[in-house]
Amino acid sequence: MQPYRGVDFYGFEAQLSDEERSVRDTVRSFVEQRFLPVIREHHAAGTFPSELARELGELGLLGPSIHGYGCPGLSSTLYGLICQELERGDSGLRSFASVQGSLVMWPLSAYGSEDQKRRWLPELAAGRAIGCFGLTEPGHGSDPGGMETTASRDGAGWVLRGNKMWITNANQAHVALVWARTPDGVDGFLVERGTPGFTTQAIKGKFSLRASDTGEIALDEARVPEANRLPGARGLKAPLACLNEARYGIAWGAIGAAADCYHTALAYALERRQFDRPIASFQLVQAKLVEMLSEITKGQGLVHQLGRLKDRGINPVPLVSLAKRNNVAMALDCARAAREVLGAAGITDEYPVGRHLTNLESVKTYEGTHEIHTLIVGAEITGLPAFRG
Ligand SMILES: Cc1cc2nc3c(=O)[nH]c(=O)nc-3n(C[C@H](O)[C@H](O)[C@H](O)COP(=O)(O)OP(=O)(O)OC[C@H]3O[C@@H](n4cnc5c(N)ncnc54)[C@H](O)[C@@H]3O)c2cc1C
Repeated sequence: MQPYRGVDFYGFEAQLSDEERSVRDTVRSFVEQRFLPVIREHHAAGTFPSELARELGELGLLGPSIHGYGCPGLSSTLYGLICQELERGDSGLRSFASVQGSLVMWPLSAYGSEDQKRRWLPELAAGRAIGCFGLTEPGHGSDPGGMETTASRDGAGWVLRGNKMWITNANQAHVALVWARTPDGVDGFLVERGTPGFTTQAIKGKFSLRASDTGEIALDEARVPEANRLPGARGLKAPLACLNEARYGIAWGAIGAAADCYHTALAYALERRQFDRPIASFQLVQAKLVEMLSEITKGQGLVHQLGRLKDRGINPVPLVSLAKRNNVAMALDCARAAREVLGAAGITDEYPVGRHLTNLESVKTYEGTHEIHTLIVGAEITGLPAFRG
């Protein structure tokens, strides 16, 4: 098969700086040399290659747009390009980096105390410590405002009670950022593994994101000191702002998964012969390839513009929602079309499209479902929020 060169039909690449191109190429090489050789085995076993965490750290890919505390302070566009290349490998790899960087390190940098930043950011940036983000509960997914997990004052500290569900990195995390209801609203607490009353359990039997650690967290009177509460995070808007950071990366990441499906389908269609001709010569196959290319190109337009806006400090929720919603649905459509182009071969793990296809089902649901992002954009354009009573 032809070497992977990404998709650049409209010349977005020419707008990248030398640094952006160079980091993008470094991540692409890491994915090809260190991740792709092991993904089939991890996907089959349902495990994440956590031994790669330190390598991701050494390359500066964990919390890359944070400044200081061991983080390189790269541009938002570069963060997006990193997500794109990681998700070209697997959505599980990008999920690991998104949770670590956008959902644990970003809130630490935005809402944490100086001590919390010094203690955790360098460790998390280096991949020596792994973090997870616990917002979703068994009874509250799309509506985290209904959260039942509580934190009550206990002398100088807090006691946490409740359950979190579907938590990426839960079982390998050294520290969990858990969101809980307090008498004053919603607060974020750092709960370290080993805290009595804090336990995690793997969620088994996943069809999707198999190479990602997903688990439940139980908080059974877990006691944490006041020093573990994020002082700057008040109210539900704090975890929602973290999600906006992660969704930005997902919008980019989906381009990587879609581009890998397109690349695989095009190469296969040029090689595979039926009726004495390459199947790429048939109009119906060409239509599928052109549709993929067209939708990927439109999705690239969204994220390149979003990246430049974010670099200028403009990052409105509805714009991120529109890009996440569009690009993930687009990538899922590309994966389905690529699977069809590959025929029976598309259902095996010899090719990545079946893996991307099942992964993207989760990506369409997490970090705000496709429907919730529709309602966020709907509320923006009509002024009428449909998801509130
Ligand atoms: C692999 C994986 C990893 C995850 N990682 C994390 C993590 O690290 N941390 C974390 O906190 N969470 C995580 N999640 C949870 C994820 O964010 C939730 O699954 C998501 O928010 C949806 O919640 P739910 O699954 O409970 O679905 P529900 O909220 O029950 O929704 C079910 C369906 O109803 C629809 N729906 C709900 N409300 C409305 C409405 N008002 N109007 C129209 N339709 C509606 C939804 O769109 C969806 O189609 C993860 C999920 C998965 C699958």
